[in-house]
Amino acid sequence: MAEAHTLPPKRAEVVVCGAGIAGIAAAYWLAVRCGVGDVVLVDERPPLSLTSDKSTEAYRNWWPGPDDAMIRVMNRSIDLLEELARESDNVFLLNRRGYVYATAEAARWRELETAAQVGSSMGAGPLRSHTRDTGAYHPVAAAGWEGEPTGADLVVDRALLREHFPYLTDRVVGVLHVRRCGWFSGQQLGMYLLERARERGVRLIPAHLEAVESAAGRVCRVSLRAGETQHAIETSCFVNAAGPYLRSVAAKLGVELPVFSERHLKACFPDTRGVVPRHAPLLIWEDAQELAWAEEERALLAESSDTSWLLAPFPPAVHMRPEGGLGSDNILLLWPYDAAPVQEDFPLPEEPTFAEVVMRGMSTMVPGLRAYFDALPKSYVDGGYYTKTQENRFLSCPLPVEGSFLLGALSGYGLMVACGAAEILAAHVTGGALPDYAAAFALERYEDSAYCDRMRAWGSSGQL
Ligand SMILES: Cc1cc2nc3c(=O)[nH]c(=O)nc-3n(C[C@H](O)[C@H](O)[C@H](O)COP(=O)(O)OP(=O)(O)OC[C@H]3O[C@@H](n4cnc5c(N)ncnc54)[C@H](O)[C@@H]3O)c2cc1C
Repeated sequence: MAEAHTLPPKRAEVVVCGAGIAGIAAAYWLAVRCGVGDVVLVDERPPLSLTSDKSTEAYRNWWPGPDDAMIRVMNRSIDLLEELARESDNVFLLNRRGYVYATAEAARWRELETAAQVGSSMGAGPLRSHTRDTGAYHPVAAAGWEGEPTGADLVVDRALLREHFPYLTDRVVGVLHVRRCGWFSGQQLGMYLLERARERGVRLIPAHLEAVESAAGRVCRVSLRAGETQHAIETSCFVNAAGPYLRSVAAKLGVELPVFSERHLKACFPDTRGVVPRHAPLLIWEDAQELAWAEEERALLAESSDTSWLLAPFPPAVHMRPEGGLGSDNILLLWPYDAAPVQEDFPLPEEPTFAEVVMRGMSTMVPGLRAYFDALPKSYVDGGYYTKTQENRFLSCPLPVEGSFLLGALSGYGLMVACGAAEILAAHVTGGALPDYAAAFALERYEDSAYCDRMRAWGSSGQL
């Protein structure tokens, strides 16, 4: 028999569908920060187990324009993460090691310099340029974030590069080290928020949400199924936080959402040779590249159309970070080289070549990884879907049916933005004051023709 606290109530003030990071943060914000007394969280899976535990768990306040909305919401979200880290004695191990973007191309370097000036002018923090060893460059701190720099460092001095990044290829012409960035345990953050929310009465109901009913244009009831058992909960407020199922849950209200999904994978390797220092920041290679193969390998790969794609140019943005604390030798590697929109299928289709491709790609930036080419260490590959909007800005807003709301399309940055996005959501639900950047994350933006024109010429969406 189900435990008493998991039995669905007959009525609730708010029902949230989805106990990923979006739904948990929404329930936390409503119950803990806004004092909403009667919040029910519905999920057919264990909390955080579909997409939210597949993340690289990294965060950054470094986002492109065309305006400052992403930087402002991320700065706010990171403020909130830091506040939660302080109150919890950093139970989720927030660090601020930064992201290091590197290139071997002079033209790309000039673009990075320009992007750094723009990012800094839009609120990402001060920009420091190190053209020679001025001694002012602040090295990475392995743990914690208090007292660590914000903004960014542009480093081109060879002595500095060799001193601080000896593991990078000497082809690097410069690195952009963005500082209000790092990573944390998303699982620990999620469980911390869920526990605090439960203390304020939030109930987690293990069930499938089948229907959301409305009467006279207003949400009135949700129907749940747990095994053979059907339940109905009377409610006037429903929040769709269904992650990759955002669209199908919105369709239950007759609402069509402008979102789609891309499949993203990550590989975890034991770095048994200690190629990557355990204190390294997140490392991103900014250049397109062809993979390094021996002549005989090239000839073999060229023989079949199943393998010849491995000889083609690959896009920029292969990236990597160390994972785990003392005693761990794991490294996480990612590369979105195949990010076309796809149907959300679970379990994810297998991608047997991913581990080798991402290791070879990353070795362009960190040549020491070539030591693994002959005998690739046993890897663990997982991943999920980036469910997103065209311009890669999330949705935290009311839906057209009165009493219904949306928190989703969190793309590849859901953990880092969850607190900032949930704060907006809770203000919409409770009628609280909205931050002035909230409009950038509402569905109504697509009703503005000037916005849609701007979107067509958007430029970088900031996705890694
Ligand atoms: C490989 C990879 C790397 C990533 N790296 C980062 C990173 O470094 N930093 C970062 O911030 N983000 C990262 N992300 C993105 C981040 O993981 C997602 O944005 C985030 O987890 C989305 O959370 P969510 O709550 O919206 O969705 P989910 O975690 O998928 O949760 C949705 C929940 O809704 C439930 N649900 C759906 N429909 C129903 C229904 N009808 N009834 C009941 N329950 C339902 C599901 O069971 C699920 O539990 C990464 C993602 C991937 C895949």
